[in-house]
Amino acid sequence: MILRMAGVYFHIPFCKRACTYCDFHFSTSLETRPGVVDAMHEELAKRAVELTGPVGTIYFGGGTPSLLKPEEIAAFIGRARRAFPVIPDAEVTLEANPDDITEERLEQWKQIGITRLSLGTQSFRGERLKWMGRAHDAEQALSSIALIAKAGFASWTIDLIYGLPGMTIAEWDEQLTIALDHGMPHLSAYCLTVEAKTALAHQVKKALVTMPDDADQSAQFDRLMERMEAAGLEHYEISNFGRPGHHSRHNTSYWEGVPYLGIGPSAHSFDGVRRRWNVANNTRYMKAMEMGETYWDEELLTPAQRTNELLLTGLRTSNGVELARLPLDAAGLQPRAVERWTVSGHLEQRDGRLVLTKAGRHFADRIASDLFVSEDDR
Ligand code: SF4
Repeated sequence: MILRMAGVYFHIPFCKRACTYCDFHFSTSLETRPGVVDAMHEELAKRAVELTGPVGTIYFGGGTPSLLKPEEIAAFIGRARRAFPVIPDAEVTLEANPDDITEERLEQWKQIGITRLSLGTQSFRGERLKWMGRAHDAEQALSSIALIAKAGFASWTIDLIYGLPGMTIAEWDEQLTIALDHGMPHLSAYCLTVEAKTALAHQVKKALVTMPDDADQSAQFDRLMERMEAAGLEHYEISNFGRPGHHSRHNTSYWEGVPYLGIGPSAHSFDGVRRRWNVANNTRYMKAMEMGETYWDEELLTPAQRTNELLLTGLRTSNGVELARLPLDAAGLQPRAVERWTVSGHLEQRDGRLVLTKAGRHFADRIASDLFVSEDDR
């Protein structure tokens, strides 16, 4: 069993614009920013006791963390280092948007201890960025990746979206080529999905947008796997590819069910048995912190729920699910489903692990839910 260290996540709930497909928590008004930042410091101080083991990763996500001033980010890193036993070579990731990237800013982020930059590129094509409602244009997408490539971070990654309406394999190939030509050591590639209550969901409902066929999205996923394999990037999670030494340590810990602490509005936390989520509202978060009121909900996970979570996240990874680590006996998994997906060539068992085959990666979530144990198996 690989031992993973706990992580700390900071949710920075502000964006310049609302991307049409996004269902994360954020506000486009910066009015509450000083108050939210102060409240997050308070939350961190209050919850310092919750992580006792070494902290291996710190992650700034959102929202758009690159909207914060470098000194604000540095203050969070400093407080985390004082609050927890953070290891000296911790991975410290900052999500940044292309329109916030300048040479000077990159240098400042390196100086304050950011080791890994995650760039929200999504596309290098102007018309696509406009359609998604992104705040950056094609020129910024291209100039930011060029600047990051030579900035000297220990690691960096970009996000790209495929499965867009009308996207061809040629367009997807072009996107991947641009990224690979810059020596990208890691890629997160997401298939466009329609999330409830987003502007995109509204457009689809009104028939203003027609989503592509599953077959088109599936062919683009196949091309993605081919191109990354040929370029030497390991497919270590359904949506993530990295050169050796460049896999995201923070996200890998999530997928392996390691405890983490989430700070800020909407942030989730997990202590091994209990999941907790903060209120997804900046003003309510701030006010509750000020008044000393509860600003979160929580749930004690049953062994069946923990087993199913590990199946859901673990099956998406190339390491698969270590059966001996499941809180419930592996015999409780749906044996007929295991057999069916194994016989069909989508699932295999090796070294005490359940692992998806390449064909199985197209159906990760469906296979996991077929295998789920029920509460009666406790
Ligand atoms: S910048 Fe990121 S978090 Fe903000 S709206 Fe766009 S996708 Fe969502």
